[in-house]
Amino acid sequence: MKKKYASLSAIALAACLASAQAADWYAPQEPFAVYGNTYYVGTGGISALLVTSEAGHVLIDVGAPKSPARIAQHIRKLGFKVEDIRYILNSHAHHDHAGGIGELQKLSGATVLASPASLALISSGQPDHTDPQLRHLLPMTPVKKVGVVHDGEVVRLGPIALTAHFTPGHTKGGTSWTWQSMENGRVVNMVYADSLYALSGDDVRFSDNPGYPDAQAAVETSIARIASLQCDVLVAAHPELSGLWKRKARQPELGNAAFIDPEACRNYAVNARTWLAKTLAEDATSAALKGSKAR
Ligand SMILES: [Zn+2]
Repeated sequence: MKKKYASLSAIALAACLASAQAADWYAPQEPFAVYGNTYYVGTGGISALLVTSEAGHVLIDVGAPKSPARIAQHIRKLGFKVEDIRYILNSHAHHDHAGGIGELQKLSGATVLASPASLALISSGQPDHTDPQLRHLLPMTPVKKVGVVHDGEVVRLGPIALTAHFTPGHTKGGTSWTWQSMENGRVVNMVYADSLYALSGDDVRFSDNPGYPDAQAAVETSIARIASLQCDVLVAAHPELSGLWKRKARQPELGNAAFIDPEACRNYAVNARTWLAKTLAEDATSAALKGSKAR
């Protein structure tokens, strides 16, 4: 059977900050309209979405530390002003998705909003010291004046209404976002999904992390949450993990309807569940090995 989405090995490379061969965060990518007022302004390896309105724009994620200039260029190329961005939102506070926030806030003057757990990291620029991937996490430019957003809260700007769905597990402050976009009179449910991948580090197991004892329960809840969303167009923080490029390939034939796949969120959840099972199995093996060495 042909796999609908990225193979697990591809997911491993892309989702794992630790991997030197991770998907190229700075791969060139022309900006494009996804659906209605929603535009892809990220790189080929890391997503960033611009949701536009007459009242100003909302930017979700700003990519890795060297991405802001490129993202600003993409926004201008589409005919929008960076200075019209009113809010910058985030999926999770790892430097591949949040590393550019400080720089883009300076360029735009936008207000940054984050979940309480992400807020501490984005404000200080320092990684979470209990993160299993700590060794591979880079400090980020500290961001001044970050506002807090709560689970289920709706961020409004003119006609735009984006709902925050907390999806912790990969990080403590992980957040996914939903809103609606309209094109040719058709309204679709847009989902920007956070990373749902359970990752162990070199020193800390995902399933046995004293700094985040409920990580497994959190990721299971988050996976179920994404699977149950009303979801027509999915873009994940790592674009290829949501099948974005495969759907984009059909754009010449189908127009922006190519991006609609009502199964996308459920498929994304299935991949994340498979990934969790693999991590738990690896954790059990490494725990057993450690146990036998100790004896
Ligand atoms: Zn991450």
